[in-house]
Amino acid sequence: MKLPDRMKAYCKKCGAHTLHRVRQEKTRHRGGGMGATARNTKRNRRGYGNQGKFSKKPVTATKMASKSSKKVDLRLECPTCHKKWVMSRPRTKRVEFVRAQ
Ligand SMILES: [Zn+2]
Repeated sequence: MKLPDRMKAYCKKCGAHTLHRVRQEKTRHRGGGMGATARNTKRNRRGYGNQGKFSKKPVTATKMASKSSKKVDLRLECPTCHKKWVMSRPRTKRVEFVRAQ
């Protein structure tokens, strides 16, 4: 996917159209760990319910691994106030920034 590295867009903070910089936000690891409350609930619920369908590993994890492309987080950064705006989150293999004239 080819994108221009600069784009004219409206900044709500400045209230004007400025030449924003297009950037791909780095993917951060989302903490999937359980909190104290979730741990306590799990412990208290031990011995209840069956070990059937809901005891299995969710299918979504394997489904995600089979995808060949990833969703990229594209943002626009205002040059004057440095506020970042979400541009779009398309599904693509790689992002290439082309210098805008
Ligand atoms: Zn701004």
